[in-house]
Amino acid sequence: MPKATETVLEIDLGALEHNYRFLRSRLNPETKFLGVVKAFAYGSDADRVALTLQTLGIDYFAVAYVKEGVALRNAGITRPILVLHPQPCNFGELIKHCLEPSLYSPRILKTFLAVAVESAQNSYPVHLKFNTGLNRLGFWENDIDFIAEQLKGRKEIRVKSIFSHLAASEDLAEREFTLGQIASFKKIAEEIELKLDQKPFRHILNTSGILNYVEAQYDMVRSGIGLYGFGNNPKIDAHLRPMATLKTVISQIHRLEPGESVGYNRGYTSVGYRTTATLPLGHADGIGRQYGNGNTYVTVNGKKALIIGNVCMDMIMIDVTEIDCNEGDEVIIFGSDPTASYFASTAHTISYELLTGISQRVKRIFIDR
Ligand SMILES: *Cc1c(COP(=O)(O)O)cnc(C)c1O
Repeated sequence: MPKATETVLEIDLGALEHNYRFLRSRLNPETKFLGVVKAFAYGSDADRVALTLQTLGIDYFAVAYVKEGVALRNAGITRPILVLHPQPCNFGELIKHCLEPSLYSPRILKTFLAVAVESAQNSYPVHLKFNTGLNRLGFWENDIDFIAEQLKGRKEIRVKSIFSHLAASEDLAEREFTLGQIASFKKIAEEIELKLDQKPFRHILNTSGILNYVEAQYDMVRSGIGLYGFGNNPKIDAHLRPMATLKTVISQIHRLEPGESVGYNRGYTSVGYRTTATLPLGHADGIGRQYGNGNTYVTVNGKKALIIGNVCMDMIMIDVTEIDCNEGDEVIIFGSDPTASYFASTAHTISYELLTGISQRVKRIFIDR
């Protein structure tokens, strides 16, 4: 790859393929695989990521909102797309683009059913989401009778799958809680089959679920972060490859006298003679102020350089006193070192938040598989 000449998010589609194959290899061959590509495929580029996964034979996609599904259809995605969190105002648009809604409450079921009846649908595929302990979105087990009543004799919609979401699949201290979620999901699934007289397929595992509770893979799994190179566990991370690398360049180098300050509100003061480098990215690009003031390092010519002072909107300053470097040299913000998960941890957050926060101002470039 040529060296960066400006701030870029480099997206390695070969790493995506590797991660997909690794996760697939942990599953039974007949288990379907859903790629979660919401939030621009976790801050990367949903179109390119989804098209790559579609070429690799992935079975399903999921996004959070209808708008994201429409964008995928316009990019040429023909596989089924599950919309995890649709809003009634978008149901018309959803049907127009053959997107499949997650129906997660009595209100959503009733409004979707009304739209399906009004537009004379025939067996429109829907997915029922059940709450088994996350207490975020989903029907409760005691809604099953209501669901059965609503769907009785209705040809307009067909329950294609039922699913639930684990609250702490990465946290082995919560094993008992997670096994409880899986057990109540199983019970709900059996009851649904009985009362609806349909046999929807089942899915409950996210990435950490695949890694820690593979016995509950049922008919499909849903993975996001794993595809992008993180398994919420150092042992697993060793088998995965981070897909995204955030790179930039040194815009300017300054040599400071002892006692000089750097940046807004004089956030840093030099003790002794220091050399600093200014980089063309800041909190408007998704690197927030929490990463400043010596909290986090970036890599310059293979060496660690601390972010000093306050992160600005369009710039950050780093200490390169001990590093042999020049204006125009490449700087790795995160990628293989530091990893996004380590970088995020320095600000008490997680790779998911750091990755999805990289703003649309940052140019995306691709390394083909
Ligand atoms: C985001 C999401 C996922 C993906 O979770 P990862 O931990 O990134 O694998 C799966 N299922 C649902 C319902 C989600 O909202």
